[in-house]
Formats: sequence, structure tokens, C-alpha cells
Amino acid sequence: MLGFIIVCVAAFVLALVFVGPLRRAMISDPLLALYRRILPDMSQTEREAIDAGTVWWDGDLFSGRPDWDRLLAVPAPKLTSEEQAFVDGPCEELCAMCDDWEITHERQDLPPRAWQFMKDKGFLGMIIPKKYGGLEFSALAHSAVVMKLATRSNTAAVSVMVPNSLGPAELLLHYGTEEQKNHYLPRLAKGLDIPCFALTSPEAGSDAAAIPDFGVVCRGTHQGKEVLGMRVTWDKRYITLGPVATLLGLAFRLYDPERLLGGEEDLGITGALVPTSHPGVEIGRRHLPLNAVFQNGPNSGKDVFMPLDWIIGGREYAGKGWMMLMGCLAAGRSISLPTSSVGGAKAMARYTGAYARVRSQFKTPIGKLEGVEEALGRIAANCYLMDATRVMTAGAVDAGEKPAVISAIAKYHMTERVRKVIDDAMDVHGGKGICLGPNNWVGRGYQVVPVGITVEGANILTRSLIIFGQGAIRCHPYVLREMHAAKDMRGDEASREFDAALFGHIGHTIGNGARAFAHALTGSAFAPAPARAAPETRRYYKDLSRISAAFAFAADVSMLVLGGSLKRKEKISARLGDVLSAMYLASATLKRYEDQGRVREDLPLLEYSVQDALYLAQQALDAIIANFPNRLAALKLRAVVFPFGKRFAPPSDRLNHECAQLLLAPGAARDRLTAGMYLARSEADPTRNLEAALAATIACEPIEHKLRDAVKRGAIAPRAGADSAALARDRGVISAAEFAQWQNKEALRKEVIKVDDFEQDFARAAIVQRLAKEHLPAAKAA
Ligand SMILES: Cc1cc2nc3c(=O)[nH]c(=O)nc-3n(C[C@H](O)[C@H](O)[C@H](O)COP(=O)(O)OP(=O)(O)OC[C@H]3O[C@@H](n4cnc5c(N)ncnc54)[C@H](O)[C@@H]3O)c2cc1C
Repeated sequence: MLGFIIVCVAAFVLALVFVGPLRRAMISDPLLALYRRILPDMSQTEREAIDAGTVWWDGDLFSGRPDWDRLLAVPAPKLTSEEQAFVDGPCEELCAMCDDWEITHERQDLPPRAWQFMKDKGFLGMIIPKKYGGLEFSALAHSAVVMKLATRSNTAAVSVMVPNSLGPAELLLHYGTEEQKNHYLPRLAKGLDIPCFALTSPEAGSDAAAIPDFGVVCRGTHQGKEVLGMRVTWDKRYITLGPVATLLGLAFRLYDPERLLGGEEDLGITGALVPTSHPGVEIGRRHLPLNAVFQNGPNSGKDVFMPLDWIIGGREYAGKGWMMLMGCLAAGRSISLPTSSVGGAKAMARYTGAYARVRSQFKTPIGKLEGVEEALGRIAANCYLMDATRVMTAGAVDAGEKPAVISAIAKYHMTERVRKVIDDAMDVHGGKGICLGPNNWVGRGYQVVPVGITVEGANILTRSLIIFGQGAIRCHPYVLREMHAAKDMRGDEASREFDAALFGHIGHTIGNGARAFAHALTGSAFAPAPARAAPETRRYYKDLSRISAAFAFAADVSMLVLGGSLKRKEKISARLGDVLSAMYLASATLKRYEDQGRVREDLPLLEYSVQDALYLAQQALDAIIANFPNRLAALKLRAVVFPFGKRFAPPSDRLNHECAQLLLAPGAARDRLTAGMYLARSEADPTRNLEAALAATIACEPIEHKLRDAVKRGAIAPRAGADSAALARDRGVISAAEFAQWQNKEALRKEVIKVDDFEQDFARAAIVQRLAKEHLPAAKAA
């Protein structure tokens, strides 16, 4: 009898699951009705944000079964010879023109000849096609230029990155009318127009869609003719390049109360191009963002009349501004801040390693003291991972992706990691990093770091809401289908689509749970790894496959248990985003190792970075479970994801030591790690002196041993104020040539450790006088 009942129940369940119409009627349709009731309404702006961009490797990581072969088959991104020539030529020249102390302290602006050079050589039009006079560079080239500039002058890097990121040129390229493109793009390409993009208002920062700035459609007079236009009122702040801009990309909400355009009254966010010379445009004052002196300031206008033709894309694009912004956000966000952060990290890696070898305390180069070594090892590994992420992400953009979620990951993590790198660099430099002046190569970077954290989606918001929030909908193989079925379809079509997505989703969740559990039980031994990967890295692919399955399972459980409230559970959502991000960063690092031909010397950098990422992913999963609001679900989740507890350990001290060593001496690994950064050539440049001091210090180490040995043996007796090396030479311990070499090293070392001091007024009076003299001929000519 019992057997008969079991067979009947099994037959019923199978019928439900496999017989389509029955299954839909009994399971999917009631669930669809419930889902429609609980699915929160999405505003148009939320919908446009979700729909924007493309899904790439993030989709694989979200699936729980990343296809590693597909990732490794993507060719390594490369610059063309023309792009490389630009990086080695004009970009190098521009770096040489930039003296960061002169820019940030004395002028509080780039020198006029640097501005002119940037305009003349096309730096401001790297993304503009050649047919409009631009350079038409790849994303990788754009990134290489910004990265190199960032190793020299943050002001130059930001001034170049902004016109090439989200703003007038990018928007025109995608949505501009032919007339707008033909007029503005050649001018932007040659720097005849300087653009800025004004979205942020005092009342609307992160919640940018809530801008109070508005325009009203009306008739008015423009260039002596009566035309249909709009009267716009705005008050913007923080606008980069705003104070020097000639072309304002302006975002505001457009209303048409008289229905002159024949549609809705509230048309929505609209983007227009407004020449800053237009009457009523108030512009020119500056903010001072943490002593970063790129041009940045407020602008405003009250009831400024402008023709409808100034809307980007013309009047058909009235109200489509948010869609346009979201559609164009990913490319710039993938490049600008991730890249400038990598530039900062490379400079810090090179300078800090050199300084730590040249600077001695306790008769030891500080870089050989374990505490300092720990910081150096972290800097080196972070730099390796960051550059790998920069290159892979730029490569994706060049392959046609507009990676919405990946661009958020790259922006968030590169700006956070450079913050860690600079903190470590500051600590290693001690007082040398604190006293600002021409001899400080760390302090300005430290000051400016929060700018990258705040702009293009402030980091707390990006981590809490965007990375997983957008990823869960965009990258998940079924969630968007379910939502579309519920919101955009009706009747039989909705029923079928929802049923297919729902049962696909259930299978996906069960499959990921089973895989996560099995891989955890077997220590990832049977998890997939690509056949073509280097044998020494295969275990990392397997571990990441395990984490991917665990993440996908945890994501589904979170969505199922928390539903719409997951959006408000930002701490859970942020940690899920951390797991996704750690997998992306580790993937990029593994790919770099392959793309660079498996350089064994770099293996410690790879191992440190990937082990660290696995550990971070594990800790994030653990914290999700520990704080999961539903304790029963949390227990089950832990049993599946960590049946034997947590297995991944942070990178070992041995690995950290090996990474640090790569920064402490000149060599191929150090050059590879910092490839693409600007290396000063002028003998007056403190960073060039630092390089020379590093080489001289290492070359003098045998002499140092002789001196120490002589002191120990009593051959020389060092006295306060006496030159031990001279004594050693006099006693024949070292030769005259060795003495000269030692003296040269000492001179370089003293230069390296010196810090600046100033007159009481910090030389303000002298600077003002000098700049006034410089401006005098120009003023006379004018
Ligand atoms: C130097 C600089 C240059 C800039 N350049 C430009 C430019 O060229 N054009 C332009 O239009 N704008 C620009 N901005 C504006 C920039 O994009 C905004 O500063 C940014 O959007 C954040 O807005 P806010 O500063 O008003 O911070 P707020 O929005 O007040 O945010 C404060 C904090 O709250 C967090 N937060 C907000 N909402 C949430 C949430 N839902 N969940 C979790 N955390 C949240 C944020 O992450 C942040 O940490 C610039 C800003 C600066 C400082």
C-alpha cells in the first residue's frame, strides 16, 4: 500500500513538473500572479538603468559555471603602432611638461603650454572618430594615455579623462543629430571647445535622477527669430572642467505644460548642449577638491532661453536624457577612474619600493624590516591585480561590450585598492610622505584619493546598490526573464515565458547548490578548470568555480528569502557584490598571467592576488550567512557552502615576502609591474634621482659590507662627525674608486630623504610675482 502511495505521489510530482499545461496551471500561473503583486514597481529611470549596457564575463560568474576556456580564448588586448607612438610621443612629452608641485601649489592649474599642447595633439578628442578630426583611439589606448598621465599629474589625467568619458562627445557620438555632430565634434576634437557635463545639483548627488533643475517648453527669441525652445533654470556644483568650459552638457527635467510638443507634460530628464557664452549662463567660479587643481566648479542659470535644437539628438530626444546617460555610462566608467587609479598604484609601487631600499633605519634598509615588507608586498600584489583588471576591462570595451556591472566593479575596486596602496605608501614613507613640496611624490596622491571614491557613483552606493543590485537582475540567467514576463507580457505568452524561466531558475538553483556542496566536500578537486591554463594556476580556477557555484546559490537563496526587501538589505547586497567582484578581479589576474606568457617571476604576484581574492570572497559569504535575517535559511546555506568550515587562508608571509622583493631592486618584474608609467628624464626631477639612488644603493652594498666588517674587526673606529668611508679609504679598506662611488651614493641618498621647507608665507609672494611677470607679455599683447 505504502509503495503504491509513493508511486502515485511521484507520478503526480513528475506530471506537475514535466507536463507543461498542468504545471503552468498548478504552479507557474499562481506564482506569476503572486510575483506580480510583490514585484516592486520600477520607475522609468530604474528600468533604464537596469536595461543599459551589456553582460559579459559577469554573466558567467553569476551562472555558477564560468566557461574559463571562453575567457582565456579572448585575445590579449594590444595597442596599435599608432597608439603606442602616441603614448611614447605626445603623452610622454605632456608628462614632461607637468611639474606636479608647480601645478598644484604654485599655479593651481596646468601651465598654459600644457593646455595648448593637450588641445593641439588631440588629447581631448581621443574617443572622437578620425572623420571628425579626433584620434579614434581604442579604449585600451585611451586607458594607456590616462594611466601614464596619472603617474605624473593627476590634474593632467583628470583634464584629459573627462572630455573622453561620459559627456558631450560621447553623447553626441551616440545620439547627436548630423548637424550637431558636424558642428561640435571637430571643435571638441581639436580643443576649440572645452566640454563639461553638468548633472549634479546641491540637492541631487547620488540620487541624480532627482535633479530639481528644470526647463519649460515655450516660444522665445533666438538670434533675432521667434523659435520653439525652452526656458531652463539650473544650479549645478562639482562640475569638472566647468570653470574653463565653453560647451556645457546640461541635464535638467523638461516640462511641456502647454503641450507644444504634443506629448506628456512631464517629458523627463533631458540633455542639452549649451555654449557657455550664451547670455544667462553663469560659470567660472572654482571649488578646491582636496588640493587637486583640475578645473572644477559650480554653474547656474535662471530662465535661460535656448532653442529645442540644442537638445542632444534634437527634439525627438526630449525626455530621453536618462536613457542616454545610462546607455553611455559604462564605457567611460570602465576606463577613467579604474585607469587613473592604476596609474597611481604603479607610481606608488615603483617609488615606495625604491625609497624603502634607499632609506635605512636600525642600520637596515627599511624595506627589509618585516613590518614594512608587509606593506610593500601588498602594494605589489594590488598593483598586479589592478593592472590586470584595467587591461581586461578595456579589452572588453574594445570588443564592443558596454559592461554595466563590470564597469561598476572596476570603478569601485580600483579606487578602493589605490586607496589601500597609497595608505601603505604613505606609511612606508613616514614623514617624507607628509611634508608637502616638490620632493614629496606621495602626498598629493594621498590627498586626491577620495575624489575617485566619490565621483561616477560614490563608492558606498556603488557597492551597496549597484554591483549586486544591478548584477542580480542583469547577469542572472533567469531573473530578468521572469521580470519581463511579469511586467511586460500578458496572457498565454506571459504564462509560458514565466513557466520556462521559473523552472529553469529552480533547476539552476538546485544545480548550483549541489555543485557548491560537492566542490566544498571535495576541496574543489573535481571543479572545472580550463585545459589550456598553466598547471601552476589550475587549482585557482577550480576554487573560483566552487566560489561561483556557492555565490550563485547564495544569490538565489537571498532573492528567494528576502525578495524585494533585499534592495534595502544593503549590507547583504554589498557582500554579495564583494563575492562577484573578487571573482572578477581574480579572473582578470589569471588571464593576465596567461596573456603575458606565464612569466614565472610574476607567479608570487598572481598567487598573492588570487589567494587574497578567494579569501575575501569566502569572508564575504561567511558574513552574509552570519547576518542572514532568516536563521533557518542561514543554517542550510552554511551547510551547503561551508560543510567543512572555511578553507581559504589569506596569502602567507612567504608570498608577501616574495612580492615585496620584486619592488626592492631594479629588474624585469618591477618594470613589467610598472610598465606604462612615466619615468622622469630630467636630472632635476626628484623621482629620477630616486631611481638613481636605488641603483647606487644596491651597487654600494658590497662596500657597505666592507665598512661594517672593518668596524667589527676594529680596523676603523667610527666617530661622531667623522666620515667612516673616508677613514676606510685611508686605511686601505676600500679603494679610491669605491670611495668615490660611496660618496656619489651618499649624495643621492641625502637628496632622496630630504623634505622641503618654506618661507613663512610658503613663498606665496614670490610665486605671485613670478606668475604676474609671466602673464605680463600676454596681457600686453591682448
Ligand atoms: C571633484 C568632483 C568632481 C565631480 N565632477 C562632476 C561632473 O563633472 N559632473 C557632475 O555632474 N557631477 C560631478 N561630481 C559629482 C559626483 O558625481 C557626486 O559628488 C556624487 O554623485 C555623489 O553625490 P554627493 O557628493 O552629493 O554625495 P551624496 O549623494 O550626498 O552621498 C553621500 C554618501 O551617501 C552614500 N549614499 C547615497 N545614497 C546611497 C544609497 N542608496 N545607499 C548607500 N549609500 C548611499 C554615498 O555613497 C555617499 O557615500 C563631482 C564631484 C566631485 C567631488
